[in-house]
Amino acid sequence: MEKQGNIRIASENMMPIIKKWLYSEKDIFLREIVANAQDAITKHKKLVELGEAAAEEHYRVTVTVDAKAGTLTVEDNGIGMTEEEVEKYITQIAFSGAADFVDKYEKAGGDGIIGHFGLGFYSAYMVSEDIEIFTRSYKDGAAGVHWQSDGNATYTIGDCEKETRGTKIVMHLAKEEKEFLKENTVRELLRKYCSFMPYEIYLDPKGKDDKPVNDTHPLYLKQPKECTEEEYKTFYRDTFMDFNEPLFWIHLNMEYPFRLKGILYFPKVKKQVELERGKVKLYCNQVYIADNIKEVIPEFLMLLNGVIDCPDIPLNVSRSFLQNDRQVQKIAKHITKKVADKLLELYRNDREKYERCWGDISTFVKFGCIKDEEFYKKVEEIIVYKDLAGEYRPVTSFFGEAVSEEDAKNGKEPQAVYYVSDENKQAQYIKMFKDAGLDAIYCDTYIDPHFLSYLEYKNPTRVRFMRIDADVAGALKEESGEDEALKKIFEKALEGKHVTVKTETLKDGSVPAIVNVSEFVRRMSEMHTFYGMGESPVDVTLIVNAANPAVQALKEADEEAQGKAAEQIYYLALMNYRQLTPEELAAFVATNSLLLEKYLKK
Ligand code: ADP
Repeated sequence: MEKQGNIRIASENMMPIIKKWLYSEKDIFLREIVANAQDAITKHKKLVELGEAAAEEHYRVTVTVDAKAGTLTVEDNGIGMTEEEVEKYITQIAFSGAADFVDKYEKAGGDGIIGHFGLGFYSAYMVSEDIEIFTRSYKDGAAGVHWQSDGNATYTIGDCEKETRGTKIVMHLAKEEKEFLKENTVRELLRKYCSFMPYEIYLDPKGKDDKPVNDTHPLYLKQPKECTEEEYKTFYRDTFMDFNEPLFWIHLNMEYPFRLKGILYFPKVKKQVELERGKVKLYCNQVYIADNIKEVIPEFLMLLNGVIDCPDIPLNVSRSFLQNDRQVQKIAKHITKKVADKLLELYRNDREKYERCWGDISTFVKFGCIKDEEFYKKVEEIIVYKDLAGEYRPVTSFFGEAVSEEDAKNGKEPQAVYYVSDENKQAQYIKMFKDAGLDAIYCDTYIDPHFLSYLEYKNPTRVRFMRIDADVAGALKEESGEDEALKKIFEKALEGKHVTVKTETLKDGSVPAIVNVSEFVRRMSEMHTFYGMGESPVDVTLIVNAANPAVQALKEADEEAQGKAAEQIYYLALMNYRQLTPEELAAFVATNSLLLEKYLKK
């Protein structure tokens, strides 16, 4: 017998609000309906364990698409519902649950609830013009129940024929939602939302050989020691559709004080210049919630790929609540700590692999340090740079003893560490450093300028960084004291070129002169460029090397030759620092030809 009823909640008002907010993510309805089916199975399984229901051999959820009828159906062989239960759970709880959700949503300002969790059964009305439920409870002698409603004010309920236990939800899709009648669309959605749900899900099953679309025992739920390397790699490939092997991974497995399971993978980076956006998928009891939830997973970890299942995260709350939740903060901290531990372990136990991977992970590690001081403290000692011999060394091994306050007052500066930012452009300087037995570090990521500043900021008494061309004279000089006569010759020859001239006797006599730009001036100029304030011209210092034979010879030459030679030496030094301007190049070529002519005619 069919009965009619009124839904007590004024649900006509709800749908426009829900549609407005959730429209871009309306496909979550399938997750909600399939998750309900899974829950119903879990409940039945528990009753079996308690001896209150007969055992079931093959729990399953079946999803079928009927394009002709315009329906999408989700059927389970779970606990089922009696007529009273349908009245209670669907007509009352599901509808009032949705009303609650709308209420919370309004309070959270519309976009507050992650993964749009908590809307439940009612979400199916986002895509359906009418929904029917056919259900039969596990209870002895329970009859089939049929419920139907268009989601507005009224519904009907009555008996029906249903041979098997469980619930079948038939969604009559609205005209504009026909995309959900395509098998591929539905398959994709099941992949996205239901991949790791605990009971098998079949899509449009056609025969005995059908395979479920989900992995009911995802690898991350296993104990780490039970998993093989091959399994980790396969899981990565299947989950992220990335056919590059991951570098290494971290298996999170924690029960107390909160439950957290998951695997984080370090992917190979494809491009240095751009931070490859990774994907950390958040699950709650094997139900997909959302990607890259920054409230739970620290931002810098989003460069990784991974799955995290954390049933203890409150989900149907606003994002700002989540952000301030102590438990959630603890979870985020724990994840960061595990990542640091893994890096330390690799560094200690397999240095070779660590160094091999470093190129791929260094951006991420440095970014993490800048973002999170605690992370920095943990990994400080294992941040490595290549020295001039090409060997990786911890950056801290280049630092000096801390300069005491007293010494600092007397002008003592922290240890200078030289760095190469461009191996090709700075080749001349590198050679001079090597010849003089000095060392420097090679920067390898675009984040290094920021990171080195960060290291200075964290270790103000132990280190200051200088680009290898910033203070060559300071690093390489043999003896102090200027050659005033030489200085005058150059100053005269270079008048009007914005050059400060200094003379030094360097250890290496092979180079006549080098250009210096102070670290401070260069950083300022780089900052100008970075903030789009235009390129500011940088004044350079020319260090004339009194130890060079050509420079010595120049001192003895006549005035005209001195002028030409000094100019030439300047351009040569400048070329090692930057590209010459067209005017400079023309002048350089003209003088060069003149010098050749003189040399050959001699
Ligand atoms: P929630 O799942 O958050 O409680 P829903 O609106 O999704 O909210 O569902 C309301 C209730 O309806 C569920 O708690 C459950 O008791 C019942 N229910 C929904 N789907 C099924 C199903 N497939 N089998 C049995 N009971 C169901």
